[in-house]
Amino acid sequence: MNNEKYIEARLPRQRRNINWGTGTFLVIAHAAAIAALFFWSWPAVISAVVLYWVAGSLGIGMGFHRLITHRGYKVPKLVEYFLVTCGMLAIEGGPIQWVTTHRIHHAHTDQTGDPHTPRDGGWWAHVGWILRGTAHIHNRATLERYTPDLIKDRYYILLDRFYYVPLIILAVLLLGFGGWGVMLWGIFLRVTLGLHATWLVNSATHMWGKRRFNTGEDSRNSWWVALISFGEGWHNNHHAHPTSARHGLRWYEIDFNWWGIRTLQFLGLARAIKRVRFNRATSAWQLVRGRRSQKIRQEMAAKA
Ligand SMILES: [Zn+2]
Ligand SMILES: [Zn+2]
Repeated sequence: MNNEKYIEARLPRQRRNINWGTGTFLVIAHAAAIAALFFWSWPAVISAVVLYWVAGSLGIGMGFHRLITHRGYKVPKLVEYFLVTCGMLAIEGGPIQWVTTHRIHHAHTDQTGDPHTPRDGGWWAHVGWILRGTAHIHNRATLERYTPDLIKDRYYILLDRFYYVPLIILAVLLLGFGGWGVMLWGIFLRVTLGLHATWLVNSATHMWGKRRFNTGEDSRNSWWVALISFGEGWHNNHHAHPTSARHGLRWYEIDFNWWGIRTLQFLGLARAIKRVRFNRATSAWQLVRGRRSQKIRQEMAAKA
């Protein structure tokens, strides 16, 4: 691989021109989100809440992040495609580009090369990197290095190319069946809040919160980011054990995405689930997978 090309593509502080298309969309989305407040109705609120969960939890948290980025659990291919398609409604780009950015973040967390570290400034980590960074524009060499598993998938290639289409189709449907209020709430207000929730995982949870694990970077656990992002705020736990499908490790660490994955498991749709458990014998959190976790549970029960 041409390493120079790769470095050129990943340097976050490399000043590119502003992504005007993205910038314009974000300004319009914020303005329309405020306008939505004047079109309040129960159907509008309910559509926004349901879609916030579909896009944010099923799509980004369970699909983009815990399934196809980190492979914390396995599902049938059709279920995987369903979850990833839900993620398209968050309008955070196509799955290949999204996963590439996030795997680079894990490979270079808070170091040179991290696409969105608050060490380059809180604003940069939150949204600056979207406007001027390498979001959605990784070159071929970078994709081959970070997402060799996804770049062969024709459906994901299609989603990457036409990442805005599912949201446009949904917007037309909401406008047709629900009217302006439902569309403004279900698309613009919901998308804007969802984007900030994801961005806070990049900014706030690398600045504020507690650390359970000494991970050698700045990741933190933030209960309030977890609440608005369906559990993604337990970010220090996640950086310590990236492949764990469970991020909130204690019962009080609310992790909706984990409950969603458990629900898939009860439905017989999720298996080979990786998770972190506290091993009393070694006094350490350790990653277990599938049946082994049951075995450890039994052993712990026998000891207790
Ligand atoms: Zn992080
Ligand atoms: Zn991750």
